[in-house]
Amino acid sequence: MYTITLIPGDGIGPEISEAMIKVVEATGLKINWDLQNAGEEVYLKEGNPLPERVLESIKKNKIAIKGPITTPVGTGFRSVNVTLRQALDLYACVRPCKSFKGVRTRYENIDLVIVRENTEDLYAGIEFKKGEKDTLDLIDFISSKSGKKIREDSGISIKPISVFGTERIIKFAFEYARKNGRKKVTAVHKANIMKYSDGLFLEVARDVASRYPDIEFEDKIVDNMCMQLVQKPELYDVLVLPNLYGDIISDLAAGLIGGLGLAPGANIGDEYAVFEPTHGSAPKYKGLNKINPLAIILSAVMMLRHLNEFDAAMKIEKAISEIIQEGKFVTYDMKSPNDSTPPVGTQEMAEALAKRIKSY
Ligand code: NAD
Repeated sequence: MYTITLIPGDGIGPEISEAMIKVVEATGLKINWDLQNAGEEVYLKEGNPLPERVLESIKKNKIAIKGPITTPVGTGFRSVNVTLRQALDLYACVRPCKSFKGVRTRYENIDLVIVRENTEDLYAGIEFKKGEKDTLDLIDFISSKSGKKIREDSGISIKPISVFGTERIIKFAFEYARKNGRKKVTAVHKANIMKYSDGLFLEVARDVASRYPDIEFEDKIVDNMCMQLVQKPELYDVLVLPNLYGDIISDLAAGLIGGLGLAPGANIGDEYAVFEPTHGSAPKYKGLNKINPLAIILSAVMMLRHLNEFDAAMKIEKAISEIIQEGKFVTYDMKSPNDSTPPVGTQEMAEALAKRIKSY
């Protein structure tokens, strides 16, 4: 019996979590879900969107699965998702993007893994608001040290990239490649422009790569990487990126395999692991029983593999593959325009998967 922290999240989070539980439990595994709420409703009640009890639960159980949590734009609290990754030092975000046969996409046979650094870069949360005294002091300081003028009505976000943070994420990418029989790691950056942040990332990446002669290494500038992924995605294998580029390229790669509804993810540190889909809380679909639950279900598959529950993981993947190819019990986003049969809802898709898994 496992005890796993479950954070359903908000927006479509609770409904996809319910679907995920149905599918995981159909494998026969006994799981005690330690339910923990976080996000806006908790913020309104308790004044903190990520109360200490949520972090304590993950620290105790070592493993969690979560639905998406809405981040207010510009105002309100900081992203719970980013705070969680930083608080538990979940420094590696792993997002596999693999084609399933039968999914309507422009590409076939995509098999990419995005490894995104999760704690540094412009997402470190070090920001200075326009017009505040500290911001004006910082502007003065920068001007005195660099001779560069920053306009006084600027807001500032800081982009730290360290040797420590880079070394461990690059190592993680190479270790992942070795463990999973992957052939090549591509480091993605903009070192030609940001010499001291991305430049450092590249320098450290080259150094770490020299310790893994069995795995091919190359680097690509991020804008070129975007074009390459659209034109020749089959040339790439494991991509390792700083936080911001990792976030953006993850969505691009999700687009290659049929959209966010199919893109799972894991946030992994040395002590804890939190599994979550790549997509957000899609508020306009909240409560409609329409959204595709596969991204969180595939995140659960990653979680089961992390727990060495390979048989249960394999059964879920087999059921997903069959259900997709049959095309009957799938949500709206997976229906082709010339298919006249109606899509099913989130829970109906999960029930079809659960029934299939129980039949194996
Ligand atoms: P989103 O991923 O929530 O949705 C964008 C669009 O993608 C949706 O409107 C829908 O058309 C499609 N989509 C997303 N998930 C889908 C699914 N499971 N099945 C089918 N289609 C799907 O992105 P957004 O609108 O930019 O973000 C909404 C909120 O979620 C924001 O507050 C954002 O900060 C937050 N967010 C949270 C996380 C997280 O919890 N880790 C990640 C990304 C965004």
